Amino acid sequence: MIVQCPDCKKPLFEFDHGSGNYHCSNPHCNFQYLEIMTGKQYRKTVKIEDIGQKPAVSNLDKRPKRILVGLAIESTLLNMGHTIFDKVITKLREDYNANVFDCLENPQYLKRVLERNFDKNTQNVMVKSIKTMLGEFAYYESVREFLDVLNNKA
Ligand SMILES: [Zn+2]
Repeated sequence: MIVQCPDCKKPLFEFDHGSGNYHCSNPHCNFQYLEIMTGKQYRKTVKIEDIGQKPAVSNLDKRPKRILVGLAIESTLLNMGHTIFDKVITKLREDYNANVFDCLENPQYLKRVLERNFDKNTQNVMVKSIKTMLGEFAYYESVREFLDVLNNKA
């Protein structure tokens, strides 16, 4: 199904398949996303929970997002068992002197750790889970960029 942005007429894309949230891909457009089920439309002038954020990706924007992304990673890893959790946390520290909260700004750290230490199936399950948790936050550019790297789109 192709849904057009009501503002700029570019095709909207469903960020997370099956979520029913359609995002406008045009960064200059004021339209953010459409909830297909309710028909609710969200625009950038609409107040969202992150008071004081700027439209551009600034450090101010990234600070709460790095926690959000870190917790999504942590929660995914914990769901997959403590062996996987320990392995990823250890490798992030050994290879990059980093932790899950550094992954928003350095998505390639996580990506490389997953690629080097897990089979394709396990990687896919992890990425899908992280993507599902963060799906509704994908209208933040910094979160979207992180997910794009995990998805090989960047
Ligand atoms: Zn648009």
